Amino acid sequence: MVKRILFSALAFTATLLAQGNPDWHRAIPGFKIAGNLYYVGTADLAVYLINTPQGNILINSNFEEDVPTIRASIEKLGFKYSDTKILLISHAHGDHDAATGVIKKDTGAKLMVMDADVADEESTARGRPGAKVDRVLHDGDTVELGGSKLTARLTPGHTKGCTTWTMQVQDGGRTLNAVIIGSPNVNNGYILVGNTQYPQIAEDYVKPFPVLKSLPCDLFLGAHGAYFGMLAKLEKMKPGVNPFIDPSGYREYVAEREKTFRNEWEREKKNPGSRMGQK
Ligand SMILES: [Zn+2]
Repeated sequence: MVKRILFSALAFTATLLAQGNPDWHRAIPGFKIAGNLYYVGTADLAVYLINTPQGNILINSNFEEDVPTIRASIEKLGFKYSDTKILLISHAHGDHDAATGVIKKDTGAKLMVMDADVADEESTARGRPGAKVDRVLHDGDTVELGGSKLTARLTPGHTKGCTTWTMQVQDGGRTLNAVIIGSPNVNNGYILVGNTQYPQIAEDYVKPFPVLKSLPCDLFLGAHGAYFGMLAKLEKMKPGVNPFIDPSGYREYVAEREKTFRNEWEREKKNPGSRMGQK
């Protein structure tokens, strides 16, 4: 019991420390990634806009304090915030979904969430958005608007309904496969062995890797800019050069994350309850 409280305290401390990451709330100008796919998030918390003739899809809301930044990026790109028709999330953690209720209220967008994250999305517990989910998604479901189609892939572990979004983007006569990774990461304070609240957590964490490896990927993207080196790639972007087209970077990232997860799992199997603030 004491251990459990200690781990909860550590998890809470880790959250507080992470909220100190200045890139989480630092505004950067929105930009076009490719075709009708745009980045309208902060310097690290990724928000994607898919522009269609029937309105826009947004993936992720970030924290409530980030909404004015997201809105400004949308409008500076020439779109209307009020044209947000569908709101999706990478997974039910506050850095990606705390403001879903606010954006829903502002725009009337329909919120669509993977089945296993719905309870956390609708929860009114501290830090949860308490947002009503309009459509419950299942692995492989598609979300369509104005000729654009996204596919929801269940990549659980990080949260029970953690979702990787894929879509095809038409860009300069080419078709590019975009993959927006939900998260394959084991956060500080997570317990992989003997987790009473999420007993199958480690078995779930295994599942995303074959899925991610099977996906065709040209545009390597994710819930945090840090997953795919967003800021460095943005600096290198120029006409005719799109560093976000990075299939080998994608494969390397997935392989490295799988190795890191498996190492951590093995370590915890040998020392259950030993997890302490590992990055
Ligand atoms: Zn998360």
